[in-house]
Amino acid sequence: MLGFGETMNPMKIECEKKRAQLLDGARVAEEIKREVAEDIERLKREHGAVPCLVVVRVGEDPASRVYVRNKVRTSEALGLRSEHRALKAETTTEELLNLIEGLNARDDVDGILVQLPLPKEIDERRVIEAIDPAKDVDGFHPINVGRLSLGQETLAPCTPVGIIELLERNAITISGANSCIVGRSQIVGRPVAQLLLQRDATVIICHSRTRDLSSITRQADVLIAAIGRPGFIKGEHIKPGATVIDVGINRVTDEAQARELFGEEAEKRIEIIRARGYTLVGDVHPAEADQVAGRRTPVPGGVGLLTVAALMRNTLKAARWRRGL
Ligand code: NDP
Repeated sequence: MLGFGETMNPMKIECEKKRAQLLDGARVAEEIKREVAEDIERLKREHGAVPCLVVVRVGEDPASRVYVRNKVRTSEALGLRSEHRALKAETTTEELLNLIEGLNARDDVDGILVQLPLPKEIDERRVIEAIDPAKDVDGFHPINVGRLSLGQETLAPCTPVGIIELLERNAITISGANSCIVGRSQIVGRPVAQLLLQRDATVIICHSRTRDLSSITRQADVLIAAIGRPGFIKGEHIKPGATVIDVGINRVTDEAQARELFGEEAEKRIEIIRARGYTLVGDVHPAEADQVAGRRTPVPGGVGLLTVAALMRNTLKAARWRRGL
């Protein structure tokens, strides 16, 4: 307690300030994967069915190779059957459409995922629309997008599903919460807004034309950043005590930038840059968010891990629905 006439020493406030609690994506992802593996086992036992996911990759984009390898490995670890189709970069839209038509027709295939981005010569929209909506485990087909916006049960995009799981499994209140999403992409911003709305959050979506962004984001109890700009969301954007979900995955190669972004963790990150050439940062400035937010997701180790877990769950869901279960 302060005595009469005393003032709190600002240095002391600084020292006593707690850092934001980190929300552990790995723990939640492992929980989801364990549940999926159990359900797959039950499906095999009771119905003799093994769900099958086909992942299609076109070209040699290094990030896509890593993502696809992760998806195939995780499928196999959980007892799903998986096929990996790697097509050459010169593949035409028609060739890809033919492949999808064949996969749609195969009764043993439950999920079809075409890894994005596709080479720019390929008509991405036609490809997405060619996938049977019942096998569209990425949830990008207009029928699934429509069902999601109507609040109907559907295959919803994986990263948004993972974000909701992370919030719910950490007992973070969604119903009635002020939520703000920065970013309006089809993959993250829009679908996560729909999922939050379904759970009775008040939802605001911001984007590059939003005026006075920080005055809006500062109202949010749950702030989601899906922008694609390293450390864009600063302390001034965050309501004290808010939960901050960082979807961004950006590479930092510059040591001075790492020092500015990572605060106490900077030396560790600089070592990573020296060893590997880069370190990952999200769309949230970690050192500043630590001073203001109540909870935040780390990058890496946050949302990224949940995307694959949610994909596994979508594949299981598609397999059950196709069998009328
Ligand atoms: P997009 O590039 O499709 O969308 C970015 C959004 O950010 C757009 O809506 C854009 O607005 C908005 N934006 C850009 N600049 C500003 C600004 N200055 N102020 C406010 N809004 C801005 O990105 P994605 O949604 O595909 O991805 C976002 C990030 O998330 C990326 O870093 C990506 O790598 C990562 N990601 C991570 C995943 C994971 O598994 N963790 C999965 C998917 C993505 P406008 O619409 O007006 O242009």
